[in-house]
Amino acid sequence: MTDHSSAEPSGTAECRQCQEFDLAEAVARRERDESRATDCRVLRKRHLAAAHGERS
Ligand SMILES: [Zn+2]
Repeated sequence: MTDHSSAEPSGTAECRQCQEFDLAEAVARRERDESRATDCRVLRKRHLAAAHGERS
């Protein structure tokens, strides 16, 4: 049985969108594409604020 009550409110580790942003940033960094990596971070932050209610 999965205990959903133990899930963190932000739950970014379980969020596919967060994982995709992480992956896209990792790929961009590997390709030394700093501007794309920065884009991914910005989009991820925006997603965090919108979907997880986090503020920086
Ligand atoms: Zn997310």
